[in-house]
Amino acid sequence: MQAIFARQVLLADGWARDVRVLPGPDGRIAVIERAAAPGPGDHRAAVLLPALANLHSHAFQRAMAGLTERRGRGRDSFWTWRELMYRFAAVLTPDDLQAIAAQVQVEMLEAGYAAVAEFHYLHHAPDGADYDDIGEMSARIAAAAGETGIGLTHLPVLYAQGGAGAKPLSEGQRRFGCDFDRYDRLMDAAARAIAALPADCRLGIAPHSLRATTPELLRAVTARFTEGPVHIHIAEQMQEVRDIEAWLGTRPVDWLLANLPVDERWCLIHATHMTAAETAALARSGATAGLCPITEANLGDGFFPIEGFATAGGTWGIGSDSNVRIALAEELRLLEYGQRLVSQSRAVICPEDASNGRTLYEAAAAGGARALGRQAGMIAEGYLADLVALDGDALALDGRTGDALLDGWIFAGDDRLVADVWSAGRHVVSAGCHAARDAVAARFRTVLRRLMAA
Ligand code: ZN
Repeated sequence: MQAIFARQVLLADGWARDVRVLPGPDGRIAVIERAAAPGPGDHRAAVLLPALANLHSHAFQRAMAGLTERRGRGRDSFWTWRELMYRFAAVLTPDDLQAIAAQVQVEMLEAGYAAVAEFHYLHHAPDGADYDDIGEMSARIAAAAGETGIGLTHLPVLYAQGGAGAKPLSEGQRRFGCDFDRYDRLMDAAARAIAALPADCRLGIAPHSLRATTPELLRAVTARFTEGPVHIHIAEQMQEVRDIEAWLGTRPVDWLLANLPVDERWCLIHATHMTAAETAALARSGATAGLCPITEANLGDGFFPIEGFATAGGTWGIGSDSNVRIALAEELRLLEYGQRLVSQSRAVICPEDASNGRTLYEAAAAGGARALGRQAGMIAEGYLADLVALDGDALALDGRTGDALLDGWIFAGDDRLVADVWSAGRHVVSAGCHAARDAVAARFRTVLRRLMAA
């Protein structure tokens, strides 16, 4: 493996100058040399950071990005958006899914993410029947990851009912549906697909939400799968909170924490609508809060109470969810700006005398790694070599050192500052470009044109 020599590096204990990072053949950082001189074959970088994990993606939705911005009759909402998403999901073939997933993974890597948690619910044929291989669609997500080199945490979704209170699946949901036994077979097949990928890739489970499962199923599935991450959509919309309260008697986060063994394996996506007591309890649980600022803004979800959550010591990370934009710096910036607009103040979660950029970045790095079940998120020996190098010639970084580099990237720059990315030591992005960018984009373009013409 090629060593990396960087002038400025954010290590686990802070910034250091002139550091050599040596990844081992297992994709982990074998040695870190401080105050080092560059070796003859080293990759040279100006600024080296731990790369983030994207903790929430629905890959196929990348192909409908920007296509849901026409207002229909009445009030547009998450629920009207969801109807459009269902119509779109109904026509995708396995080849389509693989092409779209590869495209979005290339974009994620070029944005500076080294890994992604794919919350995958498009399981079955359009009529709801099993494919010949029940794990066909999971295998396509895995094949895309094999091509792009992204670190994949694959999360097959358990989607059992159409809504709170045992509503049947709608026609638009029949490609998603599983009962316990079907899900068990699907997980077996998905495990075989993931086994073909590098060792950092892994499998977890994703009960879709309280509204799409039942208390009995949630208990059964969490008892059956006792290793790996557990992700769930929890309280994205006020309608969802009211439906769960009417059905189960308490608000969704309250119910989940009281009824299931929520701990560090868990990631609660869109814990947007919580009381102060729920916020503190979630922080204490050790679970990660999965925040998706661009999608949550696009869908009109609401604001996550990050100030109270961070003060209580909560762990959080970011995800690109609907993939309407793949933009790492923008996710963090929008998270912070949303809170500023609401609170009419600045530097909302940053401790006194600390940098906003560094506070946001390090929190998202730690939370993303925890959510993916990935020993990453910091540059330290033994950790996966998930690394991102920034372009030292970029004007937004000129003359800056230390924390000011992260403030410059997140608040004054964008993902064009990303020069190189390594995922578990795989050097997947060089000079801002993924090696397979053109081939992947050509396949994606073919799929898009056919979908747009349909
Ligand atoms: Zn989602």
